[in-house]
Amino acid sequence: MTLKNRLNPFKNIQEQIDKAANFLSLTPGVREFLKMPMRELSVSIPVKMDDGKIKIFKGFRVQYNDARGPCKGGVRFHPAEDINTIRALASWMTWKCALVDIPFGGAKGGIICNPKELSRNELEKLSRGYIDRIYDLIGPEKDIPAPDVYTNSQVMAWMMDEYSKLRGYNCPGVITGKPLSLGGSQGRHDATARGGVFAVREAAKHLNIDLSSATVAIQGYGNAGSWMAILMRDLFGSKIIAISDSKGGIYCEKGLDPREVLKYKNQTGSVRGFPLAESVSNEELWELKVDIICPAALENCITKENVHKINARVIAELANGPTAPEADEILFNKNIFVIPDFLCNAGGVIVSYFEWVQNLYGYPWGEETVYKRLDKKISWTFQEVLALSIKNKVDMRIAAYMIALTRVVEAMKLRGWIN
Ligand code: GLU
Repeated sequence: MTLKNRLNPFKNIQEQIDKAANFLSLTPGVREFLKMPMRELSVSIPVKMDDGKIKIFKGFRVQYNDARGPCKGGVRFHPAEDINTIRALASWMTWKCALVDIPFGGAKGGIICNPKELSRNELEKLSRGYIDRIYDLIGPEKDIPAPDVYTNSQVMAWMMDEYSKLRGYNCPGVITGKPLSLGGSQGRHDATARGGVFAVREAAKHLNIDLSSATVAIQGYGNAGSWMAILMRDLFGSKIIAISDSKGGIYCEKGLDPREVLKYKNQTGSVRGFPLAESVSNEELWELKVDIICPAALENCITKENVHKINARVIAELANGPTAPEADEILFNKNIFVIPDFLCNAGGVIVSYFEWVQNLYGYPWGEETVYKRLDKKISWTFQEVLALSIKNKVDMRIAAYMIALTRVVEAMKLRGWIN
């Protein structure tokens, strides 16, 4: 399914904000402001392709709210990217950074392109061209991009280099998710999944689930999904019984070896056809009876159409926005425990924050320090959200929004933007 025929994720997030705002006493003006991005830039990037022809790519950067600090958020390369998706993702970044209490606002960027069809040379030109267009808006104290869907540490290296060239000096702190040798942080490569694993561990404690015998299904096998599978197995001994990607999925009751599946996917382009596994469709994956199901791909996969079929005890949302608002209520009534995206996948931006701090200080930390500090942030936030959700008898998502919105509103008040 392409992003275009999905629901509009920006509408979803506005609905989510409204739901949570009903529990807070916010004036209509403040509510309105929280539902709108503060700044948007739309750019055209000409790239001389390998065949000598010029192709124009369209890109965006949305800075949603910077009341709590410089804007922060990834850049996505996707053929079906659009401004509404980027707006929604920039909004989620704002709430994510506020929820885990790191001193950033929220932003997101994207380029409409199919990176799988671009050569390395074309990809580099596109990455640099994007920075040429947005460089005035970004900077270590202004807005700090990072990787997201179909962008990686190599893309971040080109972007940081381009920005540094334009400024005339080295600026590692302008981008996070860089390779280690260019000022990247230990632990950034698997940080999104590792944060998710810590959140699942907290949920399991609360729900009395024994993770060493728990079954797990993963939808989406990119960076976050594959690391989630690997870490759930390595750290807890959980059994990964199903994995899917955009082309379809595989199932094995005895458990899959996530590293072998990744190797196979890297060789063939998909998890489909993995030896000794049965095939399942992406839709069938939702129906599996598992302890934990982990959406780790794109927005709006759990809708009112398929939510009734879900059989899992816990949904760990590693993707941004996988659950449509109308599905949330049904999940709550079905007693399925949802770890909301902007808590479950916050590990990525938390370690990005650590990377930024290390760059500003010019003093790298060891892996153990990163893991320990990440664990502390996630576990602490999880318990805070859980306590509020129990107190107010609301789901974890509404509780998380209540915390995040309150922090952003407080910052806006103190700055004198609102009263
Ligand atoms: N793209 C990731 C996210 O959605 C990480 C963002 C960052 O590190 O700035 O949270």
